[in-house]
Amino acid sequence: MKNENKYNCLLCQQIFPSRNKLLIHERNKHRNNKIIPHRISLFLPSFELVYQYQDAFIILIKKKLGFSRHSIGSKKLSICAFPETVFVHLFENEPTFRYSSVKQMHSCYFQGKMGEERLKQILNYEYWSSKQNPNTKTTGYVLFVNNEETYTVKFNWSLLELNENKRNFQCGTVTCTFTTDSREFINENIPPEPKKNSKKDYRPILPRTPLQQLSLLELNENKRNFQCGTVTCTFTTDSREFINENIPPEPKKNSKKDYRPILPRTPLQQLYINHISINKNS
Ligand SMILES: [Zn+2]
Repeated sequence: MKNENKYNCLLCQQIFPSRNKLLIHERNKHRNNKIIPHRISLFLPSFELVYQYQDAFIILIKKKLGFSRHSIGSKKLSICAFPETVFVHLFENEPTFRYSSVKQMHSCYFQGKMGEERLKQILNYEYWSSKQNPNTKTTGYVLFVNNEETYTVKFNWSLLELNENKRNFQCGTVTCTFTTDSREFINENIPPEPKKNSKKDYRPILPRTPLQQLSLLELNENKRNFQCGTVTCTFTTDSREFINENIPPEPKKNSKKDYRPILPRTPLQQLYINHISINKNS
């Protein structure tokens, strides 16, 4: 995007002298943009990958539901390392889907009763928005409409990009914000939650987008599962002035002579290098 201090709008190719001007332009001219300029580079996600993140939303939203006064109000959850292609496949056909190419951010929201119903289809689960206490029959739920107003569930995907010399790390994070409420439903038609571990329970079949249509056959709803690996790295840091000591200098930014320092490698890395050189030769 940045080229000799010029900022290019990827949607209409106009050029701006600063990122700020480009942001203002995007806000004025492309406020409702749905075009993703790099759409073609997003691989088609496997169904397994889509299920995994549908289930992640369901499980993490339900974890925010509760039965006491403390579990009522605005809630926010985030999922780190969320593949952009999954977000785009789940939401790009929705009327409220938007993409900001300057902020590298996708967003989509769902409002009122229609929003609740649509999310049943997108998440492929009828009971994604409520949880009942089996003892008191109190139900915690995602609030979409009450006597006073309608409420919104918002999904955002944004890119975190970090650079160290020519090394680059990109990671997408999803946040989901919504409002919760809790009460006893008496003499109202609340669909019962399926019993756990009953062999007869299946995922309720709902009208689906074509992608989801293909996915129905195998799963039954009690098998929803979200697994996510997290790496932690712990270390100790220090800071001081080095005077008259041989500290290797950091490479200058954007110098063409900079290259990755070659270090002794583990067998895994060695193999990778061999593989690259084999491919180059063939
Ligand atoms: Zn533009």
